[in-house]
Amino acid sequence: MNLFESYGLRQQIMEAIGQLGFEKPTPIQQECIPFILQEKKDLVALAQTGTGKTAAFGLPILENIEPEVPAIQTLILSPTRELCMQIAKDLGDFSVNMPKLKTVAVYGGANIQAQISALKKKPQIVVGTPGRTLDLIKRKVLKIDHIQWLVLDEADEMLSMGFKEDLNAILATTPADKQTLLFSATMPEEIRRIAKTYMTDYKEISVGKKNAGAENVNHEYYVVHSKNRYAALKRVVDLYPKIYAIVFCRTRAETKEVADKLMGDGYNADTLHGDLSQAQRDFVMNRFRQKHLQLLVATDVAARGLDVNDLTHVINYNLPDELEAYIHRSGRTGRADKKGTSVSIIHTREPQKIKALEKMIKKPFTRQQVPDGKSICKKQLFNLVDKVEQVQVDTAQIEPFLPVVLKKLSWLDRDELIKRFVSVEFNRFLAYYKNAPDLNVSLDYDKSSSGRGSVKGSKRSQSSMEFSKLYINLGTKNNLSPGKLIGLINERTKSSAIKIGHIEMMKKFCFFEVDQRFEKQVQDALQGIQWGSIKTVVELKTSKAPKKIRRKQ
Ligand code: AMP
Repeated sequence: MNLFESYGLRQQIMEAIGQLGFEKPTPIQQECIPFILQEKKDLVALAQTGTGKTAAFGLPILENIEPEVPAIQTLILSPTRELCMQIAKDLGDFSVNMPKLKTVAVYGGANIQAQISALKKKPQIVVGTPGRTLDLIKRKVLKIDHIQWLVLDEADEMLSMGFKEDLNAILATTPADKQTLLFSATMPEEIRRIAKTYMTDYKEISVGKKNAGAENVNHEYYVVHSKNRYAALKRVVDLYPKIYAIVFCRTRAETKEVADKLMGDGYNADTLHGDLSQAQRDFVMNRFRQKHLQLLVATDVAARGLDVNDLTHVINYNLPDELEAYIHRSGRTGRADKKGTSVSIIHTREPQKIKALEKMIKKPFTRQQVPDGKSICKKQLFNLVDKVEQVQVDTAQIEPFLPVVLKKLSWLDRDELIKRFVSVEFNRFLAYYKNAPDLNVSLDYDKSSSGRGSVKGSKRSQSSMEFSKLYINLGTKNNLSPGKLIGLINERTKSSAIKIGHIEMMKKFCFFEVDQRFEKQVQDALQGIQWGSIKTVVELKTSKAPKKIRRKQ
């Protein structure tokens, strides 16, 4: 007997979930289904989206509901139109063999008259957004004074979207003897307050740890300078040719900017933000769901309700201001038993945020090096070759054109031919990543020098690094500062990858340390530059050097 059978669910439900391929209940279902079936007590369940929570409350409610009674027995409140529709669709799937059972979804941004007509058909279940639900209650077309179950789905989202007043107003009109089932991914104080105010003697269920990130999600981060954030995003995306991801930005403007850049750079991307009409929003969401888009750039608010199960990645282009939002973001990947990765691109002052996140979700974050051009090109090349190997050839269609093509290419041998075919697709990457700089930044600050972390790509720590000391005949009197010196080194070496150690700034000259491996490169790059009236002289400071150097003053 499988676990679903042990719950004693009616045959109509068992057949429906069998058709959906549900073989065994998910952990949240194992906790919730027997409880809701047997108990009258309220329930607070901490669960992420994607854990199977719709069935966790939907199946026991469908088991206990009376399809013959033409009255609303269940009200489900959910933060967005998309989620309402998704829940209504799921309940429709679970109750496909229960012909008398009707579910109606009511949400804003859609014709209210059509919803009123649907309500007049006396559904047993109503799924609604708080605003529209309250509107319909006030119009006296939605009567919830006899409901037996009230489900608050994604309660934390409803609060963060400003539905608190509406929720309070709706909750106040519900009967006292109903069973309230509250689902939330996080448990902010406000949710506790709602639970305490409106729920009596409730049971609390938490699947996994409280506030835990989804089990199947790996958390990774890259450290770059802010100015390199977009370049780093491109590298991450390029490293995964089959990526299917949401890129989260903090503001609408940033969302637009990043999406525009990605589209301009030839990526299969689009944006979802608050300025879009519902029709535009549906259009973008559908393209993304159907995988016509690989990357969806969105704000937290705009991405709410977007239900996609097989994202390979969630990318935090910027970490959210509210760290709890990270749980919602990262929970969008690693769903339905698939593995997913949540990637954060952070700058040098943000590692403490990573520490706070690690503490919150109780999972480690792995620092990754921003890939260099070579590894990206290799990955892309293999992907291309793989595609060539696996492409379906429509022989009948292509046959008539082949003689001309073969004749035209007959002077090329096999190797040359392959090189050319590969180059057609691949030159874009080769050109972009030729001489691509290293974007990684060290976090071991040397405050005594420039105050800037400056190792890029080096795996050696500062303490184990060997430095060479260089002299330059410029000092504070020549308007040189540690920052300017670093800028000069970066600019002249065309790399910001060279570690710079201690800088001793004097009036007319300065000493500075550089990673020994690059001493010659730095010396040559800074030699003979016209700096105001002075032509630079750079020398390696050996044990005998100081005298020689000082003479140069
Ligand atoms: P939810 O958290 O309700 O959005 O569900 C996430 C996904 O998991 C949906 O696509 C469900 O159809 C699927 N799902 C829910 N329960 C099960 C189960 N017991 N076995 C397999 N898939 C499930």
